[in-house]
Amino acid sequence: MTDVTTLPREEETSAEESCARAPVGLLAELTHRCPLQCPYCSNPVDLERVNTELSTEEWQSVMRQAAELGILQIHLSGGEPTARRDLEAIIETAAEVGLYTNLITAGVLLTKERLAKLQEAGLDHVQLSIQDVDPENADRIGAYKGGAKKKHEVAKWVRELDMPLTVNAPLHRQNIDNLPAIIDYAVEVGAGRLEVAHIQYYAWALKNRAALMPTEEAFSKTVEIVKEAKERLKGILVIDFVVPDYYAKYPKPCMGGWGRGIINVTPSGRVLPCHASESLPGLQFDNVKERPLADIWLNGQAFEIYRGTDWMKEPCKSCPRKEIDFGGCRCQAYALTGDATNTDPACSLSPLHENWAKVAQEESHKAAPEFVYRRMGKTQVTVNK
Ligand code: SF4
Ligand code: SF4
Repeated sequence: MTDVTTLPREEETSAEESCARAPVGLLAELTHRCPLQCPYCSNPVDLERVNTELSTEEWQSVMRQAAELGILQIHLSGGEPTARRDLEAIIETAAEVGLYTNLITAGVLLTKERLAKLQEAGLDHVQLSIQDVDPENADRIGAYKGGAKKKHEVAKWVRELDMPLTVNAPLHRQNIDNLPAIIDYAVEVGAGRLEVAHIQYYAWALKNRAALMPTEEAFSKTVEIVKEAKERLKGILVIDFVVPDYYAKYPKPCMGGWGRGIINVTPSGRVLPCHASESLPGLQFDNVKERPLADIWLNGQAFEIYRGTDWMKEPCKSCPRKEIDFGGCRCQAYALTGDATNTDPACSLSPLHENWAKVAQEESHKAAPEFVYRRMGKTQVTVNK
């Protein structure tokens, strides 16, 4: 699953305007099932079971309601969305109501025939995730033998079908040295866009932080590599680069601001302002089976609680950046400070920032511990390199 903090965002506008505006995108987590087990997966640690998933008709209703609400883009995600046999029917409805559809996939379940059928149903864009360009290392990270080879084929099929392709490469200490080769890979398979996203430490990634955290020196190198590649590949490849919070001065505007631009619907129909928000206490999540999507967006308690800037405490409350980054990530603030209304410790103005940055320095210089692989029901520990 993609890092949704990097999904396309609307232009910056004031917090007041955001309350009346329609969201731009909807992230549809069609299922939490996935044949891979990435140790940085942004799905919750408690994965939703197949018997709780919305039916085809229910997802089709979500697509219609999304279009009525003014949403423009649907990101079909998971888990692995192609595990749903009714994906064609869901895409067909999305296309009928005029939504731009982006399939976020690990690719390993696809055949060229199925991809062609999805395109016929109206699929507009494919975003393919890779674990590394070194096949052995990639298969170890995703815990899926043969995955890297299959993904390479899928990337070629996407281009043979003349569909736009984004390659999504989550970056961490166990693949960071291969960044130049990852950029070459994206060019070689004909991607128009490469998303190089340093891991964000929520959910499974937080469990595996010490195994994934790069050193600051290694991170700094990636900044230079991306800068040079962006210049060199102008007109060939667009590179979106997401820096790791732990080495940042200011936090990112997580989700482009709470309840501002993106809606997340889980496999069972729970509607979230952010994929990690179920980790927060005191939020009431509505379900599309019980309440219209537009009403949830406009009035749902979970959307209203951190929308805008009224909920902020100092130092955010009087900070000139408060409508730029919206105080960072609520889930990270809660996970690391125990209070979701605190400033995200990614911010250098947070009183906890220094200690927090020290954790990254320490963990990244120790030997990497074993991965805790993402798995339904129970976690699986496998030995790292
Ligand atoms: S396990 Fe990997 S491929 Fe599967 S949803 Fe999570 S990040 Fe994506
Ligand atoms: S204090 Fe708050 S609003 Fe200001 S930069 Fe830090 S996180 Fe952003």
